[in-house]
Amino acid sequence: MKDEGLKSGDFVIPGDVLGVGEVFMPGEGTYEDEGIIYSNVAGVVDLDMNKRKASVEAKSNVPPVLVEGDPVICEIVDLRSQMALVDLIAKCGHEDRSLTMSPKGRIYISQASKHYVTNLQNEFRIGDLVRARVRDGRKSPVELSTIGDDMGVILALCTKCRTSMKKKDGKVECPKCGSIESRNMSQDYGKGNL
Ligand SMILES: [Zn+2]
Repeated sequence: MKDEGLKSGDFVIPGDVLGVGEVFMPGEGTYEDEGIIYSNVAGVVDLDMNKRKASVEAKSNVPPVLVEGDPVICEIVDLRSQMALVDLIAKCGHEDRSLTMSPKGRIYISQASKHYVTNLQNEFRIGDLVRARVRDGRKSPVELSTIGDDMGVILALCTKCRTSMKKKDGKVECPKCGSIESRNMSQDYGKGNL
């Protein structure tokens, strides 16, 4: 979660606070809830001071060259028991760059965790933001792995109400509806790191 000092050009993820409704109108890629404007997408902030409008331009592209070992941020878009399909959003360290390709990626169950996994639906959910490492960037979809302490879910959305969930006792808990779910979390889950 970004706090104060947010400016145009900053990279935000869904649920990041952009401002208050008294100052800005909610524009594209945002939503307002109880007077606070949040980002609805992963992308680059545009705070228009003249029109008093806050919007976020979604970034759904990654650099054209993805090399084995590159860390990337992706969003889970489809989920089977044995395989997760993702949209690649950004290459870590290049989040603010406008990119030319929009590859899909996939994570096989054997590459999800160093622990034995029986069903990927216990590890990820659709809409989650995940940090993953490229295994093979020449394949389409790009082959990814989330094995490693700093890999895995960095932002989980509640499956019931789509609220950003908080880490609690090795699980994630929804602050709005109280639902508790399991995730294959990165160790820095909830710190707002990309
Ligand atoms: Zn919820």
